[in-house]
Amino acid sequence: MTININNPNPATRVGERYDRRAGLEFLQKMPMGELMRMGFKARFQRIPLNRVSFVYDTNPNYTNICVTCCAFCAFYHPPGDPQAYTLSPKELSARVKRAYDMGATTVLLQGGHNPKIRLIDWLDYIHAIRALCPDIHIHPFSPTEYSFMAKLEKRPVQEILETVFAEGIDTIPGGGAEILSEPVRVRIAKNKASSEEWLSVSELAHKTGFRTTATMMFGHLETDEDIITHLIALRNLQDRTGGFSSFIPWSFKPGNSILGRTIKTNVHPAKYVRIIALARLMLDNFPHIQSSWFSENIPAGQLGLLAGADDFGGVLVEENVLQQAGHDRTATREDVITIIRRTGFDPVRRDSYYNIIEELLIP
Ligand code: SF4
Repeated sequence: MTININNPNPATRVGERYDRRAGLEFLQKMPMGELMRMGFKARFQRIPLNRVSFVYDTNPNYTNICVTCCAFCAFYHPPGDPQAYTLSPKELSARVKRAYDMGATTVLLQGGHNPKIRLIDWLDYIHAIRALCPDIHIHPFSPTEYSFMAKLEKRPVQEILETVFAEGIDTIPGGGAEILSEPVRVRIAKNKASSEEWLSVSELAHKTGFRTTATMMFGHLETDEDIITHLIALRNLQDRTGGFSSFIPWSFKPGNSILGRTIKTNVHPAKYVRIIALARLMLDNFPHIQSSWFSENIPAGQLGLLAGADDFGGVLVEENVLQQAGHDRTATREDVITIIRRTGFDPVRRDSYYNIIEELLIP
């Protein structure tokens, strides 16, 4: 469909299925205020409550050794590098325990593609965390890690998924999607699972019983058309499975990466806010859209909430990947609650299934 941006009629547009051309018009031509208003309206049609959720979590990376060598990544080190590390199950579980004792309810567990870490090691990590923190929710291993592990173990992805699912793990973080448009993906992550593989692992995961998230990293070599390709690919998959719980975009941080030698500036926060509104409108079958104070900054995160997001991400007790790109932010749980309230919403704490576990009423 084509949108007359000079004569918008959000009442008829919100809830419609927008095509590629409409998406491009949202992204490139629609005045920011109008786009935010449409995203905001669509959000309340989807979630008719004035609440914004967050999760209290920790994100310790079990290894920074990686042979995939993505050009945008400042986190990884090759095997044998003096700064390379791999945590033992005992070390990892001790880190998780520290966060657990501080109130973390979820551990988001990801790491580099390290050929020395096998499926049995993944299970050892899970068992060690469970032994020390019996009721923490373990939210482990992105689709690209599954794809790498399947190749390493020379077994189908489905078997790896089923093995982890049998451990009582039923959510997967949607990292590694980057941009699901192959011509760009091969330039920024040529050794990584392809767009098709990322989508295929996510689809298999949904059919196995996992709920997963979907991410997107923008602000590097992609065009606006690539962004729309990414969103439509996610929407099509969600139509088939319904297994995505949320969409989480973030912008490329150039610091310390190979790609950062040619792209030196961060994405303008206005583009981030536009992406949030666009996602809410295009992803009409996604329940939750996340605006992250952490991956961008607090004002951009707040504006994202006013553009259609309903989730504010995590209060992270530990995070390593963005820190290595020179992006080091902290906010306490009280800070996040205050920011959500000041943006005009009622903060609620959620779990990894997006169930509300605490309503934070003003005392
Ligand atoms: S983004 Fe992940 S897969 Fe790519 S180099 Fe970094 S750690 Fe490795």
